[in-house]
Order: sequence, then C-alpha cells, then structure tokens
Amino acid sequence: MEKLEMLYEGKAKKVFKTDEDNQYIVEYKDDATALNGLKKGTIVDKGIMNNTISSKLFELLEQKGIKTHYIKKLSDREMLVKKVEIVPIEVLVRNYAAGSLTKRYGIPEGTKMDSTILEYCFKNDELGDPFINEYHIKAMKLAEESEVDTIAKSAFRINEILIDLMKNINIDLVDFKLEFGRTPDGEIILADEISPDTCRLWDADTHEKLDKDRFRRDMGKVEEGYMEVVRRILG
Ligand code: UDP
Repeated sequence: MEKLEMLYEGKAKKVFKTDEDNQYIVEYKDDATALNGLKKGTIVDKGIMNNTISSKLFELLEQKGIKTHYIKKLSDREMLVKKVEIVPIEVLVRNYAAGSLTKRYGIPEGTKMDSTILEYCFKNDELGDPFINEYHIKAMKLAEESEVDTIAKSAFRINEILIDLMKNINIDLVDFKLEFGRTPDGEIILADEISPDTCRLWDADTHEKLDKDRFRRDMGKVEEGYMEVVRRILG
C-alpha cells in the first residue's frame, strides 16, 4: 500500500490517496478547534488516541453488522478507509442534554432525555454548520429521501450499540456526531471518526467529562481525559 498525494486537509484529519483506487488513508492530527474554529490549540498525541479509539469502535460496530468506511489501522496516526463521498450532513444523536441543546431549549446539562434525539446540521464551516431538517435536506438535494432513511435508522442502531459498549466501561454516552459517506456503488456507510472529539463521554459514577469539552471549556487535564477513554476501550 503506497500513500500518495494529500486530497484534503480538515481541522483534525488529513486524507491521502493511495495506489488502490477505492482506498484512502486518513491521518489523525493533534490540532484541536472549537467554537466554529475560533478557539485553536493542540492536544498532545490526540491524533494517536483518536485513531486508536476510532479504529476500535469501527471494528466493534462492524462486528455488530454496521457498514463503515474502516478497513484497518495502519499505524499510530493512520487508518485505511474505503473511498466515499461525504454526505454534507452532520448527524447528531443525543441521550442526555448538553452543549447547544441546553442553550437552545434551556434544559439543564446532564438531563436524561425520555427518548433519543436525532438532529441534522448542514456541514458547512463558513455558515457554522447550521441546523437543518429533512425538508431542507430534500429541498437542498443534500441526500435522497431513501438515504436519509438509511442514515437515521443506522444512527439509532449505532447509538444502541455504543450505549451498551460504553456502559461496559462505566461511561455514559451523552451525545455524539456521525458523518456518512456514499461509496462509488452508491451505498451509504458510516464514515469520519468516533472519538472524544465527536462524542460527549462522562464517567458514569463521577460524571467527569472525558471528551473535548475539557478543551472547549479550558477545564485542564484534556489529554488525561482522552487517555482514560483509550485505556478503558482497550480494556
Ligand atoms: N459535534 C461535533 N462536531 C461539530 C458539532 C458537534 O463532533 O461540528 C459533536 C459534539 O462533540 C457533541 C455533539 O456533536 O458530542 C453535539 O454537539 P452540540 O450540538 O451540543 O454542539 P457543541 O456544543 O459541541 O458546539
């Protein structure tokens, strides 16, 4: 497998072509951003920790029948993935109130929701990833109705699997963000990453935050939070 030219550089990852037509290499960086890119920083070895966590979670999801872009972990910071076209929608899944939900609706942080909340954002940095609904998605041709159906069903199933998995390592899965991709055959599969950058993870007993909120809110012990997730996930 040969790593060829960089195709894309995002806030937390780089994507490279390979000598295989339908395979890309994702490289995880230590750069951290928050507040729509306003706050910038570095989380030491975040790339290594997120690649480890994401790889393990994709493997466990695959074992439960979820189709993902993950092929294998190549190195500390590199993951081999299937080539997809990212659907420009961020899918947010919420089990407890936190972040923007608490602000929008005045629900105290940590309130357990009676049922799971699914939300969509238009993936567009300049616009600050605004919230959208199924009608926007259809009218703006971001995805077919059948694709949105697949995405929503998959997101709920992924939530069930991840809640269970996290419960086993004494973590409450507060909320998380997913991105899906279209393969060259037009199949919708889970893509991007699942890590403390994209999930809110709280210790089930102490409610200590083990995710990017430590960086967003300058709480300190950011690396320690991510490392704790690595430690528990690797068992
Ligand atoms: N999230 C993310 N990327 C984004 C926006 C949100 O990974 O661009 C994740 C975030 O880490 C949290 C969940 O999605 O786990 C819900 O985020 P929220 O809407 O509360 O936004 P935030 O408070 O993170 O701005």
